[in-house]
Amino acid sequence: MECRKDENLRECTCTYPGCSRKGVCCECIAHHRKNGEIPGGLFPLEAEKGYDRPVGTFIKAVSG
Ligand code: SF4
Repeated sequence: MECRKDENLRECTCTYPGCSRKGVCCECIAHHRKNGEIPGGLFPLEAEKGYDRPVGTFIKAVSG
């Protein structure tokens, strides 16, 4: 299966600038998982803007 980077970029809500993983979801997930984090695109929009990706921050953001 080919990477659907162009389609993924249209849907991705991560606003972090200059990330080489943007649109390459497998790399994005692997990177954040390795660091105990959740990918930015899964955060609620307001919480995403803080670029604070730890699992605990995500849980707080979605528990609101
Ligand atoms: S969530 Fe992280 S790895 Fe994924 S595109 Fe945004 S900054 Fe890059």
